[in-house]
Amino acid sequence: MIDFEIPADAKEVRERVRKFVQDECIPAEQQLESRPYKEVLGELRTKARAQGLWCPFIPPEYGGMGLGPLANALVQMELGESYLGALALNTQGPDDATMLTLLVHGTDFQKEKFLKPLLNGEKRVCYSMTEKAAGADATGMQTRAVRDGDNWLINGEKWFSSAASVADIALIMAKTDPDAPRHQQFSTFLVELPNPGYQIQRNIRTMAGESRLGEMLGGGHAEILIKDLVVPNENVLGGEGQGFNMGQHRLAYGRLRHGMHNVAMAQRALDMAAKRVLERSTFGKPLSERQGVQWMLADCASELYMARLMLLHIAYKAEKGLDLRQENSIAKVFLAHMVHKVVDTAIQLHGALGYSEDTPLARWYTSIRSQRLVDGPDEVHRWTVGRNVLKAYKEHGTTALAAGGDLL
Ligand SMILES: Cc1cc2nc3c(=O)[nH]c(=O)nc-3n(C[C@H](O)[C@H](O)[C@H](O)COP(=O)(O)OP(=O)(O)OC[C@H]3O[C@@H](n4cnc5c(N)ncnc54)[C@H](O)[C@@H]3O)c2cc1C
Repeated sequence: MIDFEIPADAKEVRERVRKFVQDECIPAEQQLESRPYKEVLGELRTKARAQGLWCPFIPPEYGGMGLGPLANALVQMELGESYLGALALNTQGPDDATMLTLLVHGTDFQKEKFLKPLLNGEKRVCYSMTEKAAGADATGMQTRAVRDGDNWLINGEKWFSSAASVADIALIMAKTDPDAPRHQQFSTFLVELPNPGYQIQRNIRTMAGESRLGEMLGGGHAEILIKDLVVPNENVLGGEGQGFNMGQHRLAYGRLRHGMHNVAMAQRALDMAAKRVLERSTFGKPLSERQGVQWMLADCASELYMARLMLLHIAYKAEKGLDLRQENSIAKVFLAHMVHKVVDTAIQLHGALGYSEDTPLARWYTSIRSQRLVDGPDEVHRWTVGRNVLKAYKEHGTTALAAGGDLL
C-alpha cells in the first residue's frame, strides 16, 4: 500500500515551523518598512534559534536540525510563505547549497574558515559561475585561473552573481586546465570578500525592478570584473578539475528548494485569490459565484496538488537513496511554471489591485519569471528529460521509467 501518512516527528516540526512563519515572519515583513533590515532579521533569527529552528537539513553536530529529505521538504514548503522565512532559519539560497557542498567536499581548514561562519549566520555567500560568455552551457566559461606557486591568479568576468554585494565569501568557478577533458577543465575557488581582485561593477537592473526590499534581502545580481585575483591553493574546493561536478552537485538541491518555496508562495496566492473573490462583487453577484472564476481556482488547485505530489515523491526517493535526476528536472520545470500560473491567476482575480504594489503579488510575479532561466533553463532540462524518455524506450520497450512509472 502506498502510504501518504507523514511521520509524527516530521508533522511536529512542520507545525512548529508553520507557527513560526505565521506568528513571527509574516508580521515582521511589515517592520521592514520602518526598521533596519539587519535588526529585524537578527531578532527573528534569535527567536528561531531559541526554538531550535535553524539550518533544517544540516546535521546536528554542525548545529542544524538534521532533518531528512521529507521533513526538510515539508519545512521548506512552509518557509516559502514569507520572504523572511528561509532567511530566519538560515536556509536561504545560495548559502544553503554552499553549506551542503562544503560539508561534502570541504577540507577541515575550509570547514573551519568558511563553513562555520555560514552555519552561524555570520556570513553570506555568492556563487559566480555564469558569464556573459556562457550560462546554460557553463563549459563555455572564459575566466582563467593560472597556478603561481602556492597561489592561483584569476582573471575574467562574471555576471548575475546573486547576493554578491552582500556576500562575505564568493565561490568562483574558473578554467584551470584547458587541455583536460571538457568537464574537468574547471575548479571552484573560495574567496573572502571584499577583495580588490573581485570588483563589483554594478547590480544589474532586471525586470523585477528596483526594489529596496529586494536589494536588502537578496543583494541584487552583480556584474563582476575579476582582475589579478590571488587565491591560495588551500582555497580550491573539492580538488582541481572538480568544479563542474561540484557545480552540478550544489545546483541539485537549489533546484528543488526553489520549487518547495514555490508551493508555499502559490498557496498564499491562491488563498489571497479565494479571499478576494469571496469579498468582491461585480454585476450584482460575488465573483466567487461565477463558474468561470471557480474554474480558474480549480486549475490552480490542480497545479498545486501535482506540485505537492512531485515533491513528496522526490523526497521519498531521496529518503531511499534512489536516483531522482529525471524527477528533479521534471519538477524543476513544472514548479517554476506552476507558481507563475497561480500568481498570475491571483493577480487577474485581484484586478488592478493585483497589479499594484499594495499586495505582494506583483513583486512575486516579476521575481519568479527568472526561475525558468536559473539552475538550468526549461529547455535544457526538457532536453535531458526527453533524451531519458527515448533511452527508457530503447532499453525497456516502454517510456514508463522516465515518466514516474517506476512507482507502479
Ligand atoms: C535572477 C537570476 C539569478 C541568477 N543567479 C546566478 C548566480 O547566483 N550565479 C550564477 O553563476 N548564475 C546565476 N544566474 C545565471 C543563470 O544561471 C543563467 O542565466 C542560466 O544558466 C542561463 O544562461 P544564460 O543566461 O547565459 O542563457 P544562454 O546560455 O544564453 O541560453 C539562452 C536560452 O537558450 C535556450 N537554450 C540554451 N541551451 C539550449 C539547448 N541545449 N536546447 C534548447 N534551448 C537551449 C534556453 O531557452 C535559454 O534560456 C542567474 C540568472 C538570473 C536571471
